[in-house]
Amino acid sequence: MTYSRADRLESAEQHLLKPCPFCGNAATLEDHRLIWIVRCSSCSASVLGERAPEPDRDFPDEYWEQFRQSAVKRWNTRTETK
Ligand SMILES: [Zn+2]
Repeated sequence: MTYSRADRLESAEQHLLKPCPFCGNAATLEDHRLIWIVRCSSCSASVLGERAPEPDRDFPDEYWEQFRQSAVKRWNTRTETK
């Protein structure tokens, strides 16, 4: 089974991720097929995005984008706590 992915956007999205709220290091977005996880590159801080339902066909990039963005949004929201 193959899935349509917006992998080409990944490098651009790294810049949308705020630094880790705990140690200030860069965070990375990990693709776990049905869920995205934003993880700190230095400490063990991580945030899970919204889990996608098991797809029964190939979905366009836009479909996956909402789940990808949910992980980014959750991570960035978390860093707003001062
Ligand atoms: Zn950290």
